[in-house]
Amino acid sequence: MNVLVINSGSSSLKYQLYDMTDESVQAKGKVERIGMESSILSHEVTDRPEVREVSEILDHTTAVKKVLDMLTHKRFGVLRSIEEIQAVGHRVVHGGESFGESVLITPDVKQEIRRLFDLAPLHNPAHMIGIQAVEANLPDVPQAAVFDTAFHQTMPPSSYMYAIPMVLYRKHKIRKYGFHGTSVQYVSRNAAEFLKRPLEELKLIVCHIGNGASCTAVLYGKSFDTSMGMTPLEGLMMGTRSGDLDPAVVPYTINKEELTLNEVNSMLNKHSGLLAISGISSDMREVIQAMEEGNEQARLAFEMYAYRIRKYIGSYAAAMDGLDAVVFTAGVGENSDALRRKVCEGLTFLGVDLDEEKNRIRSGEPRSITKDGSRTAVLVVPTNEELLIARDTYRLIRQGSSA
Ligand code: AMP
Repeated sequence: MNVLVINSGSSSLKYQLYDMTDESVQAKGKVERIGMESSILSHEVTDRPEVREVSEILDHTTAVKKVLDMLTHKRFGVLRSIEEIQAVGHRVVHGGESFGESVLITPDVKQEIRRLFDLAPLHNPAHMIGIQAVEANLPDVPQAAVFDTAFHQTMPPSSYMYAIPMVLYRKHKIRKYGFHGTSVQYVSRNAAEFLKRPLEELKLIVCHIGNGASCTAVLYGKSFDTSMGMTPLEGLMMGTRSGDLDPAVVPYTINKEELTLNEVNSMLNKHSGLLAISGISSDMREVIQAMEEGNEQARLAFEMYAYRIRKYIGSYAAAMDGLDAVVFTAGVGENSDALRRKVCEGLTFLGVDLDEEKNRIRSGEPRSITKDGSRTAVLVVPTNEELLIARDTYRLIRQGSSA
């Protein structure tokens, strides 16, 4: 069975086509600058050079049509006809309290995703456009929605409630939801497999450290607490997001700088974090390079970034009353031995004994970076959100057809 995975943004659409008989990626690519004059479609078939096509793609329905044309193209395609696509899985950022797991898309599900627009105004509307664009092109193909928030729906109220008037939760569902759930779920399963222990017995802290960054306490296979909140702004310091700060900073800054709420919101989401402190970049590679060249601001940014991860690890170890493994994943977590070393420096009290040599090794496979006999393991486990979306979609389709 072929499953097409779609991640639809407001002006972009990424795709991967999986053959679920062996979970291999047949083709992948993205359409960028949708709605603009020169839209770009980049398409890659495994082991062949990338194809790039510049044209005017005015909307998502046309973008999906272009993708389907490419997948069935005589020279660059991998399918004889679009009938060979049996299901489509969509990444959907916010599932609110309505979705604790992935679901097949029905009219009711679409209505619920629409109802959640307020909670994820930048993401959910774009996902809905993607869902409708697929419907327009492949009206008879079943679609599934896989939510970034779903995995965290197991958090207890003591983890997800904010200590503000209850009426705000009751009326507006203001609470912590958490994100990166698809990644955390995928990585936790692989970590347990690597450790050769049942996930249901493990206390893990998954550090998804990419451009967006979060830590999640995974207690016996379920999310117990996570650092991102009602939106992805809370928690760790990130590429351009501030992470945790005293909420009183917001009114104070508005007064002092005569800013609007929108301007402060944009400052905290787009002009803070690594970018603001280093004054150089939101890209960890560039920050580390500048630090190695002696830039003091870059050093401060790097140290703050690592320190905050370490603080979350400490607090989640306390929250779970123990810890079997810290798991690093995503762009920075998988690739930066310097960041991992800095975080682990302060974790000796938890029994982390980092192996410098193992930490430096690069590989696309799950691996341990602690010494044999380290009381707490530290693992690096590559994430693959698209594969989990494909797997969930495939499972739902099979369940649906056998029901
Ligand atoms: P992601 O959001 O998971 O795609 O991660 C993107 C982030 O990973 C960017 O900030 C990159 O700078 C970072 N990254 C990728 N490779 C490295 C590396 N070798 N060292 C440090 N950061 C890296």
